[in-house]
Amino acid sequence: MDYVTHTCQRCECAFVAEDFTKVKDIPPHWRLCPDCCKELGIDYDKQRPWNNRTEKQKEFYKRFAEIGRRNIQKYKALN
Ligand SMILES: [Zn+2]
Repeated sequence: MDYVTHTCQRCECAFVAEDFTKVKDIPPHWRLCPDCCKELGIDYDKQRPWNNRTEKQKEFYKRFAEIGRRNIQKYKALN
């Protein structure tokens, strides 16, 4: 497992954690730092990107999937 810099979803501080999302340049923003987890009573080790997506991120992935579907249809129409 690789380790990368993350940005806390709540306090915006930077911390290093396992890379679940295969990031390249932009620090992931889906998890809470250990301090915030302690404060909110969340199990830090149980955080996963697919559980921690914000509404905005969910919307982004939905749109992304929609564009992919449309491209496939375009491709099919050409062939
Ligand atoms: Zn934090």
